[in-house]
Order: sequence, then structure tokens, then C-alpha cells
Amino acid sequence: MSEQARIVEATSKYLTPNYAGRLPVAMTRGKWSRIWDADGNEYIDFFAGFGGAGVTGHCHPAVVSAIRRQAGILLCHGNLYTNEPQVELARRITEKGFGGKVFFCHSGAEAVEAAMKLVRLAAGQGRYKTISFDHCFHGRTMGALSLTSEKYQAGFEPMLPGSVKAPFGDLEAVAAAIDDQTAGIFVEPIQGEGGVNVPAAEFMQGLRKLCDQHNILLVCDEVWTAPARTGRWFAHQHYGITPDAMTLAKALGGGAPIAAMVASPKYQDVLGPGKHASTMGGNPLCAAAGVATMQVIESEGLVERAAEKGEKLMSALRRARIGCVKEVRGKGMMIGIELDKPGKDIVSACLARGLLINCTQDTVLRLAPPLTTPDSLLNKGLWILINVLKTA
Ligand SMILES: *Cc1c(COP(=O)(O)O)cnc(C)c1O
Repeated sequence: MSEQARIVEATSKYLTPNYAGRLPVAMTRGKWSRIWDADGNEYIDFFAGFGGAGVTGHCHPAVVSAIRRQAGILLCHGNLYTNEPQVELARRITEKGFGGKVFFCHSGAEAVEAAMKLVRLAAGQGRYKTISFDHCFHGRTMGALSLTSEKYQAGFEPMLPGSVKAPFGDLEAVAAAIDDQTAGIFVEPIQGEGGVNVPAAEFMQGLRKLCDQHNILLVCDEVWTAPARTGRWFAHQHYGITPDAMTLAKALGGGAPIAAMVASPKYQDVLGPGKHASTMGGNPLCAAAGVATMQVIESEGLVERAAEKGEKLMSALRRARIGCVKEVRGKGMMIGIELDKPGKDIVSACLARGLLINCTQDTVLRLAPPLTTPDSLLNKGLWILINVLKTA
């Protein structure tokens, strides 16, 4: 039995079988846009752990050395005290045009939970209802799951009361769904799990207006879309709007688990003393990884690179005129390829040829290469993908 087969077999023996579509591959090592499995096979990674390592690339030396340095100094002290790395990371996040104050946690779902509590406290007067959108994804904990689209909720009902859904892109439906118990609207500035759905600017601007009119909060769930992934620091900046709060997670730690809920200046002190907490939130180890990630994005110009290379990838895919491709869409390096058939076999065929991509909503292939990927590897990955698609 190969090393990899042994690990895969032990996985089914010892781990909860909750991950649908997990492939029989055990990863051991990653470097920039490449990753290796336990049998030594090498892959070009165009998905980088759901974008988790995907801004900086695997084991970016700056991130690794920040983790190494911090690991030798202090790992954790609890939030009765503060530390420099979390202050530095919060400063860097808020200085990118959003302002406000930051609450740190570890996962996207936790950041969304924090935003849900912020929304209820800020709206006050017993207002508790939320509006979120068809095909949205906000996480799997019970609160976040209540916002997430129905397909993920089966078997876990009842959801939180007042979790209202509206069609993505339909402002009139949103306006009709708001009543005097509504507290806030949760929206992904580009839907990720839902199929890389890019809303019209007018829709996002309309949501902002509705929230202002009704004095309710607009929360942008930027867990997939930020930092830098879409060619802006935060994807809401594409639409010329500012939400009242935003959530960050996947890529924030350059591969280390850290997440954040950022409240805008107007609401930055709403989660006051005693209102929320996380034992490990903002621990110096993960915060140091986050600081290094933000530094790399700046020093390597990754916001601009995402915008430029993303456009090139998308236009190359469109120019290839592949029969089974209905649409290529996205912003920056967050790219969706809608097929006229299920994409599962394409993902497997790419894997066999040494390219990792993803498929969501059955028919939408997703690409999210590390923003540091050199042109030569972007071209090589693209070439593999186009050839697989053409022979499919
Ligand atoms: C992945 C994701 C989440 C959940 O993040 P976890 O870290 O898996 O809890 C929430 N919102 C969006 C938009 C996501 O893409």
C-alpha cells in the first residue's frame, strides 16, 4: 500500500466523514503555487485551500518566518491582556479605506456570528430579523447556517427565527422583505460557494440605500473575497459602497487560521465590554501570520496583480472558445467557469494531470490561484485546464 493510500484509509477510519467530495489525496508539502502529495506527485494549485493559502501562496517565506519568530516568543496569553501583533494587524486592516475597529476570531463562521451579534445590538428595539440571499454561504455554525442558503440546512432545522431569504440581485424583493423588526442585511460582494456570482453595482448600491433608509446594518461577508483576491483590498470597494461591518477569514493568515469582524466607525464600539469574546482570538501566533500576509500583499503589489492577471486569465479562457463553457465570470483572481454539464470529471481529469481546481454548485468550476503565481505557472495551469476542457 502506498504512503498516500495508507493515510487516506486511516482518514476514513478516524475522521468524521463530513466532507463531501473529498479526494483520495493526502498533502504533505507546499511551496508558492505548488503542492505535493504523500506519494510525491506534484500539483499546480489553482485553488490553494479554498483561497486559505491563496493570496500569498503556500508557505510564503515571510509568513513562515513570522510564524517561526513568534512561535519562539509567545503563543497565547488570553484576552485579559493585549499584544502587539493583533494591534498591528488591526491597524493594517482598518487603514485600507474602511476604518473602524476589529474583533479577532479563527474562522469565517465565527466572524459571521460576531457580525450577527453586532447587528442585533446595534439595531436595538428588539429588532432581530436578517435578510440574506439565495445561493449564499455564510458558514455552518447554527447562527451562520441560518443565514446560509437552504441546501445546507437540511436536518438541522429549526433555524434562528427571522432568517429571511431574498433572490440575489432583486432589490424590489429585498425592499419588500424589510419590516420594522429587520436588523440587517448580509451579503457576499461576490458569491463564492454559490457559483462566483458577481452582482450588479446598482444592486449593491441599492442595498446600501435601503439600509440607510431603514436605519439597519449592511454586512459584507468578505471571507472569500478579501484581502486582495478580487483586485481590491475588499470587494465592496468595486461598487463604491461602504458596509457597516465586514467579515474576513480564509486568506487573512496566509494559511494560518485567523478571522476578523470589522465594524465601521459608526458601530465600532457597539460590541462593548462583556458582549462578545474568543479565548484564542487575536493570539500573537496567528496575528503575526496575518501581519506578514498584509505586508506581503503590499510589498509585492498583489492587489494590482490580482486585477491584472485575473483579467488576462478570464480573457484567455473566453478566447479559447471551448464548447462546454457557457460563461467565464469573476473579478480579479476569483474566477468561475460555468459549464453546460457537471464539472466533477473535469476536476478529476485536471488532478490527474497535476492541476488542482474546484467545482461548486455542480456546474461551476472555480479558480483561485495564489496571487503570487508567476506567469509561467499561470500559463501552464491554464494550458492544462483548456486541454482538459476541450477533450471533455
Ligand atoms: C468559507 C466561507 C465562510 C465560512 O468560513 P469557515 O472558515 O469555513 O467557517 C463564511 N462566509 C463565506 C463568504 C465563505 O466563503
